[in-house]
Amino acid sequence: METVIAYIGLGANVGETADTLRRALEMLARREGVTVWRISQFLKTAPAGGPEDQPSYLNAAAELHTTLSPRELLAALQEIETALGRNRSRELRWGPRTCDLDILLYGDQDIDSPDLQIPHPRMHERRFVLEPLSQIAPNALHPRLGKTAAQLLADL
Ligand code: ATP
Ligand code: CA
Ligand code: CA
Ligand code: CA
Repeated sequence: METVIAYIGLGANVGETADTLRRALEMLARREGVTVWRISQFLKTAPAGGPEDQPSYLNAAAELHTTLSPRELLAALQEIETALGRNRSRELRWGPRTCDLDILLYGDQDIDSPDLQIPHPRMHERRFVLEPLSQIAPNALHPRLGKTAAQLLADL
């Protein structure tokens, strides 16, 4: 089975956010077919979009080496979000949530289907994504834009 390097973005703004991110990464590391290779610092960021006056976020990025397909990885991330208490039926768009795990990059794949878009369609315009990603992988290439994480961050 082929091992692919993937990057994920993590965010939390409800409850013990640092614990939540640590637990999400532990749960991910325990999974068959996933190795957590690198983890950025946890960065406190102001909420972007969504309802006003929600608490600030703690954001991070991680490099995974994985034999899971993109869809298997998405399912794994969603299972972990649910295990950590996320309830999608009760939340607002971009509103408060205990844990949000997004696939940012999956190798050099370009996927555009209704349930899954890779690269993450908004990653290049988000400092809270590009800052932690650039810490761990400044040279990670956005396959559609042809720019590295560090270049995208500098472009903001
Ligand atoms: P944003 O996508 O702007 O960061 P969000 O993370 O708050 O917003 P969610 O409610 O967590 O959005 O997810 C909505 C849907 O996005 C999910 O059901 C999932 O199917 C889909 N999705 C598409 N591409 C991705 C991706 N690369 N990573 C994670 N989810 C994705
Ligand atoms: Ca593992
Ligand atoms: Ca998100
Ligand atoms: Ca998400």
